[in-house]
Amino acid sequence: MQRRGLLIILSSPSGAGKSTMAKRLMAWDPSLKFSVSATTRAPRPGEIDGVDYQFTSKAEFERMVEAEEMLEHAEVFGNFYGTPKGPVEAAMMEGRDTLFDIDWQGGQQVRRSTLAQNVLSIFILPPSIEALESRLRARGQDSDEVIALRMSEARDEISHWAEYDYVIVNDDPDQAEEELKTIVKAERARADRMPGLNDFVRGLNKEFEARQIG
Ligand code: 5GP
Repeated sequence: MQRRGLLIILSSPSGAGKSTMAKRLMAWDPSLKFSVSATTRAPRPGEIDGVDYQFTSKAEFERMVEAEEMLEHAEVFGNFYGTPKGPVEAAMMEGRDTLFDIDWQGGQQVRRSTLAQNVLSIFILPPSIEALESRLRARGQDSDEVIALRMSEARDEISHWAEYDYVIVNDDPDQAEEELKTIVKAERARADRMPGLNDFVRGLNKEFEARQIG
């Protein structure tokens, strides 16, 4: 059954397990296309250009925005991030779903774009502030000051939870993964996401007629 590709948006404060969830979803369904964002921030050790991000200069980023090549863009933690439009539109035309790891500002812009009809947005919440803080601390050698900043940014990000279609409380990663897969499966089966459904049912009706039923 032909259907339009979904734009699956995952947002959460950092430390709530969003990138782990994104990785698990990609492993579950390798046909998902990960939207590689452009960013002006410097690569972290291990990050690969073109895979994790498209690392760009500020001038190139501004050129892309100016040329309307971005589906959305925002400033996050003092750096610029944006979603190049081309690959998303191409995946949609092929009926492939795209996965986005973007913040609430990006989520809002995509929901307000012409592609809004195909958006599935999911917000991931930490089970508690304590858990969030300990996950942030476990990550690396960030100073108390940086942790405090991340926590206040987390509060800001969390304040947008109600703008999303679904919310997952990530207490246990296995359970959160199950919830995420269930949401994606259900959304893929929605009647209004399948433009080919009319033709399919027309075909069924032809078979009824051929058998002279009804
Ligand atoms: P990080 O620098 O830790 O990889 O990402 C910082 C934040 O920026 C995360 O919340 C991530 O979801 C968000 N982000 C990454 N790419 C994009 C993007 O293309 N657009 C927007 N709006 N946010 C993004």
